[in-house]
Amino acid sequence: MAQIGKLLLLPGDGIGPEVMAQVRRLIDWLATHRDVQFAIEEGLIGGSAYDDCGAPLSDATMASAMAADAVLLGAVGGPKWDALPFDKKPERGLLRIRKEMGLFANLRPAIVFDALADASSLKRDRVEGLDILIVRELTGGIYFGEPKGIEDIGGGQRRGVNTQVYTTEEIVRVGRVAFELAKKRGRRVCSVEKSNVMESGLLWREEITKLHGAEYADMELAHMYADNCAMQLVRAPKQFDVIVTDNLFGDMLSDEAAMLTGSLGMLPSASLGQADAGGRKALYEPVHGSAPDIAGQGIANPLATVLSFAMLLRYSFDRQAEADAIEAAVRDVLDGGMRTADILQPGMAKVSTSVMGDALLRALDKGIA
Ligand code: NAD
Repeated sequence: MAQIGKLLLLPGDGIGPEVMAQVRRLIDWLATHRDVQFAIEEGLIGGSAYDDCGAPLSDATMASAMAADAVLLGAVGGPKWDALPFDKKPERGLLRIRKEMGLFANLRPAIVFDALADASSLKRDRVEGLDILIVRELTGGIYFGEPKGIEDIGGGQRRGVNTQVYTTEEIVRVGRVAFELAKKRGRRVCSVEKSNVMESGLLWREEITKLHGAEYADMELAHMYADNCAMQLVRAPKQFDVIVTDNLFGDMLSDEAAMLTGSLGMLPSASLGQADAGGRKALYEPVHGSAPDIAGQGIANPLATVLSFAMLLRYSFDRQAEADAIEAAVRDVLDGGMRTADILQPGMAKVSTSVMGDALLRALDKGIA
């Protein structure tokens, strides 16, 4: 059986290893039933890495990440490591891996499974069938722009400064990711900024418009101001297909969109780097953290990590059929009334992490895709 690529698994801390164990079972299932096999390495990140080697990410694990075709991460952090100095904290491992892999595009899908539509903060008819994708620029903009800092300006006054800055290259590369993804979905991109009041927003709009005209003229492009987009996401979210936006607006809009789906335990994400001859660096992870309050109890919802793995199959390995099969299995299990505690609804069966994994395997066996 041929291996289709190198996969690095980083379970991390808290519930990370528990949810990753369920993905391991899916990986085994794919090897047995779909002839899809990976060369797998497993490494430590976060607090568990600190306990092992005194740093939240070792150079050796970082090198494995650079050599991998894709990285799947669980979660990092927990009270055990809260008192560590800043550069040793579990979250530093995550920041390092994202930075060194050059992950500039963050993909956050907001998908509402029919069975969970009532868990949304919006009415069922607004969110039923929702399937949107937010592409957020991740390495530029106001969180990184210079000058920044807090300075004393005399007379007991201080001044805090952050700089919103984008270049053509930064805008075009994330724009291209959005158009390429939209090509495989509804072929519609909505570019979001505040070009009415920000020069960087005006540049963003001009560059995206140019890119559209030059390379993607057969697709639909719309522009929207970020404040209006925030309103539209709660008024009529189904109008969107792919939204592309900068780091700051994307931070907020992707969290807003996440809440449309109801539960943190259901939300996958992907972060992509530059495509080159060797492929594209990519890291996949659930949106949730290490959930120390429920770690070790075997009750965590594994579906966000399972759906992150489906994204990995889709975007890093172009395995659409296998990604579809896993997403269909998730749908099937939810339709069948199985729920971990975090998504429990009246009349449904409360199940553990591993029983949810059993159910996914049974759904895959049924060949429902
Ligand atoms: P969290 O996402 O870990 O938990 C928030 C709440 O959601 C908790 O009540 C938790 O039990 C619940 N929850 C989260 N994921 C769940 C799942 N899969 N199934 C069932 N319930 C789930 O956020 P937090 O409590 O703010 O942070 C805990 C730790 O995780 C902190 O150390 C934080 O720094 C870290 N963190 C890590 C990441 C990451 O690794 N990407 C992201 C966010 C927070």
